[in-house]
Amino acid sequence: MIFDHSENEHETIVFGQDKASGLRAIIAIHSRARGPAIGGCRMRAYPDDHSALTDVLRLSKGMSYKCAIGDIPFGGGKAVILGDPNVLKSRELLLAMGDFVDQLGGRYITSFDSGTSLEDIQVIGERTAHIGGIAPGAGNASASTALSVFTCMEESVRLHLSAETMAGLTVAIQGAGNVGARLASMLDAAGARVLLSDIDEVRLERAVAGSEVIPVSPEKILHTECDVLAPCAFGAVITPDLVHHLRCSVVCGGANNQLANERIADALASDKIFYCPDFLANAGGIIDLHYQLNEPSRDPLPDHIDGLRETLRSCYRITQSENLNMLQAANRIAESRFR
Ligand code: NAD
Repeated sequence: MIFDHSENEHETIVFGQDKASGLRAIIAIHSRARGPAIGGCRMRAYPDDHSALTDVLRLSKGMSYKCAIGDIPFGGGKAVILGDPNVLKSRELLLAMGDFVDQLGGRYITSFDSGTSLEDIQVIGERTAHIGGIAPGAGNASASTALSVFTCMEESVRLHLSAETMAGLTVAIQGAGNVGARLASMLDAAGARVLLSDIDEVRLERAVAGSEVIPVSPEKILHTECDVLAPCAFGAVITPDLVHHLRCSVVCGGANNQLANERIADALASDKIFYCPDFLANAGGIIDLHYQLNEPSRDPLPDHIDGLRETLRSCYRITQSENLNMLQAANRIAESRFR
């Protein structure tokens, strides 16, 4: 069942458990062709073990593509802890997770993800040196994620709408969280007309305060007429039902796995909607981690993120010269860098 899993094309899959603390976890390493595998540690109450395995296999593979497209010397990995973080998470469980990560001897580097916090990773770090994203003074990597989305958005409208800047364009953002709120204020400062939604009214109010950003209800945001739609809340938001009802020219946002399935990239192309692949648009966060872990200075970080423009242009050129959509083009570039 494990070796035959349809998503299994991985180098290593390890299962860890600690009966005393209740830890049950899986670490998957997809590829180390570019360097040690990196990826967050997610904690979640999965309906069953198979769902947890599927999640960790998909997420770790996605990290290989993201590291390759971001051109950093890491491979793809991910960890999942099975269990409701609000019920099961304890200091003992996190320490046991630290031991589990440490057993891999640096082949996998962990960080925070949904269900785990920066403080949790610090506890894991009491038992292993193989952690990332907590460098003092580095700030929140979400700022780099928002910057990469902004950069790719500028390049997308240049390629597809012949617009030199974001000024005067309408951008609809779903999600006013770490990434969405920062992106909204960057776009506001750049003179775009920004529509922002969140199901959390307090977050939304905080994000629009003191700016020209216009709050929009969560029910309306995906159907709003705009130049750019920026999904920044959760994955699988562009479904087969929604895709032909979109009223935007470009999709470029921070959420992971925005397309409910890969065929939707074809549907977007046939509707003349430019899709900036999500793992390219949101690569800024993992590029930031690379500077925290490997580089003596963060000074080159903005230029590195700016380099995503050229990668996006390469994807576009591939779509022009071959019968491929933007997602297939980005996948091809990433695969050529880790295969
Ligand atoms: P976050 O939890 O801070 O923000 C997500 C926001 O979306 C929350 O405020 C939530 O209330 C809101 N939301 C949920 N459902 C909604 C809906 N139906 N309509 C409108 N808003 C809704 O998360 P984040 O760190 O900003 O990350 C956002 C997305 O980007 C996630 O998919 C994450 O995996 C991805 N991502 C984040 C980073 C990063 O650096 N934070 C890096 C890469 C990818």
